[in-house]
Amino acid sequence: MTDAVLTLNAGSSSLKLALYPAQGAVPLATGLADRIGPEGTLKLKGPDGAPIAVAPDDLTTHTGAMQAAIKSLRAIYPDLAVLSVGHRVVHGGNAFSAPVTVNNEVLIHLADLSAFAPLHQPHNLSGIRAATEAFPGVPQVACFDTAFHRNHPWVNDVFALPRAFYDEGVRRYGFHGLSYDYIAGALGHIAPHLAKGRVVVAHLGNGASMCALQDGRSIASTMGFSALEGLPMGTRCGQLDPGVLLYLMDQKGMTPSQISDLLYKQSGLLGLSGLSNDMRTLEAAGTVEAGQAIDYFVARCQREVGAMAASVGGIDALVFTGGIGENSRLIRARICERLGWMGIEVDPTRNAENAQVISSDQARTTVMVVPTNEELVIARAARAAVGLAEQEAA
Ligand code: ADP
Repeated sequence: MTDAVLTLNAGSSSLKLALYPAQGAVPLATGLADRIGPEGTLKLKGPDGAPIAVAPDDLTTHTGAMQAAIKSLRAIYPDLAVLSVGHRVVHGGNAFSAPVTVNNEVLIHLADLSAFAPLHQPHNLSGIRAATEAFPGVPQVACFDTAFHRNHPWVNDVFALPRAFYDEGVRRYGFHGLSYDYIAGALGHIAPHLAKGRVVVAHLGNGASMCALQDGRSIASTMGFSALEGLPMGTRCGQLDPGVLLYLMDQKGMTPSQISDLLYKQSGLLGLSGLSNDMRTLEAAGTVEAGQAIDYFVARCQREVGAMAASVGGIDALVFTGGIGENSRLIRARICERLGWMGIEVDPTRNAENAQVISSDQARTTVMVVPTNEELVIARAARAAVGLAEQEAA
């Protein structure tokens, strides 16, 4: 029997999946079903990254895509037994500070939270429903982007609005928690002395945020009520004066859905550059606007490293992760350029090599590059839900 757990990340028309063995950090397969519908595509890869043949199948629904993926995987692992399914769910509200095995009551609670994350939560929940249909009787485990931040001090959890809003859930939830959970755990193995200290983690990808860790626990996040706040992102605006929203509504007559589209899909690096949401494209572009978009991204990152460090009273390590953080030596170098006052000093050779430690030997603060692995965090939760103990180190 090939015992395995499946991890799923369901979007509106996409489904990212990974099949993990009962132990270990290397998936048996990873896959992406894209443009789910009449034009749907499915790509699967094995542990070595080599493509796995996919038979033509019904990719018009999430359930169909999941069944098609498992059918193709069974051609390679004929005795495959999926013991549990772990799901990335964007919002766990105030109630969930850890993964939870989904039942009807949990599903209703999570559906209520859709009001807080209307662009993501409904799709995540469709993924759970589809997997329940595709794998009847198999535990479905919800893993939340908010959970890791649930023990923030009160001052990092509130907005200065009348208290009734806090009571009804208008709070700073923070996101990217699965990534920060992974990094906190990995640091515990790679650099245990630093993991006990004050660490600022910069998750810089299409979505971007920072988190202040103290002794491996999240104390503050640049993201708040929604995944819009804080750093500018590929297409999201990041920090914005709420007065701008009043202006857009009052003076420009924009509707909530137009504003939502503006803030989530047309802003950030794309909005500023007028060219692309993709950092690689901007680095190569050489236009004034692309340069300014990068300048703004860097400046906000510098500012937020300071803010995160202030929230834990100093900094022992700065960790870069996410597609930009793991790969862009230019952005890492530029962010660190003005942080010398915090004891941050990057060694150019180490930085160019994407080394694990990129700070210079004499620097007071360690700067690291640690690739994140959100899927593995979900796989571990899915394993734990069916009593599989972890044996691997990191
Ligand atoms: P998501 O948030 O969608 O998971 P990723 O973490 O994959 O996104 O990050 C995507 C971002 O990482 C894109 O802006 C991409 O251009 C950037 N990126 C990836 N590799 C490089 C690189 N070598 N140099 C600069 N940016 C990079």
